[in-house]
Amino acid sequence: MASIHSDVAIVGGGIAGLCLSVLLQRKGIEYFLLTREMQQKVMALAETLPPSALAMIQQLGLREVFEESALEKTLGYHSLWGSSQVQDINFYFQHPYNYGLKLDKQLLLHKLEGCLDSHRSLQCKDWSWKEEDRCIRVNSVEKPFDLYGQIFVDATGRKKALLRRLGIGSTVYDQQIAFSCHLPRIRHPKIKHGVFTEAFEGGWGIVSSLDQRTNVMTLYAEKGSPQSLKMREYDHWQTLLSETQILQAFLAGEVWSPVFVSAANSICSNEIAGSDWLALGDAAIAFDPLSSHGITNAVYTAWQAAEAIEERLGSDSDFALGVYSEKLRKIFGAYLATRQRFHNNLVWKSMN
Ligand SMILES: Cc1cc2nc3c(=O)[nH]c(=O)nc-3n(C[C@H](O)[C@H](O)[C@H](O)COP(=O)(O)OP(=O)(O)OC[C@H]3O[C@@H](n4cnc5c(N)ncnc54)[C@H](O)[C@@H]3O)c2cc1C
Repeated sequence: MASIHSDVAIVGGGIAGLCLSVLLQRKGIEYFLLTREMQQKVMALAETLPPSALAMIQQLGLREVFEESALEKTLGYHSLWGSSQVQDINFYFQHPYNYGLKLDKQLLLHKLEGCLDSHRSLQCKDWSWKEEDRCIRVNSVEKPFDLYGQIFVDATGRKKALLRRLGIGSTVYDQQIAFSCHLPRIRHPKIKHGVFTEAFEGGWGIVSSLDQRTNVMTLYAEKGSPQSLKMREYDHWQTLLSETQILQAFLAGEVWSPVFVSAANSICSNEIAGSDWLALGDAAIAFDPLSSHGITNAVYTAWQAAEAIEERLGSDSDFALGVYSEKLRKIFGAYLATRQRFHNNLVWKSMN
């Protein structure tokens, strides 16, 4: 069997895996990235990056790539959450950047890929973990090979494809699920920013402008709840949103795309790093999209992982990987506390 030996073997070519590859390449650390062909057509979700993330991507020398992949700059958002008044969260006073970015994620992935040496990555959907040899068996169509690394990285997002094969479980905090579709763009007189969020009984929704003609609407609820069963069919959305103050005004008679379903729950891997592996991005800690911090987390964990890997490769100790793991655990703990406050706010609303 042919083999490839690399300092770092990365599985998953999302934002986390690609950013890590770019950062390792800049440090002169050898990596090999396994990516996967998209199995289904990807729906553009117009994901937003908050202003707080821009200083980090500037520091990492990635700001240009992100700005070039932006659909538009965002100057704030509106929400109706635990209150009957529309909140205007304006980025004007944010420092040092007073705007966020609404991203074309596919374009961003393409641009990040363009930063990499092409011989260091391979698209392959069929691979397995060989525990006895501690390597990845890649069943490439041209020629199967074994991929060895001093460090293996799981960057496969919520699929946790490597963690599963290593037998590492996760703690799941809820069963939230998302339903998204494209709608003709409707403008509302009270909503001047391109993002609006509203909570309703048993769920919440967000509408985000994608381009001059299109809005993306996503509704969220617990998997298996009566609301989630209705969310699968766009025909039910009018009834579901009938009690909302504003969200229902963004529904149009005709839907422009099928309803796309994705997992959106809070989940943390039981182990984030071992002596020769680590997880990053959603594979390590995944947030509720309400936080708008999934992409920031993908970039931040890639940055911290690159630093920890450099230290690990230069020493006999796995101390740096332990520190990395602890850092992520603290971040997830702080996230859970904030999430709880948001939920308490909704309980307060229903009691008043
Ligand atoms: C509806 C919705 C809206 C969101 N909105 C926002 C937002 O506005 N702002 C924000 O910051 N975040 C948002 N997020 C979250 C954000 O998209 C994610 O947190 C982020 O993309 C995670 O990046 P990642 O690289 O860790 O994982 P992913 O993007 O999931 O990438 C994982 C990669 O691994 C690949 N992969 C999977 N399995 C395998 C395998 N077996 N072998 C090889 N490769 C594999 C996948 O094909 C993919 O390329 C949203 C999420 C959802 C569901």
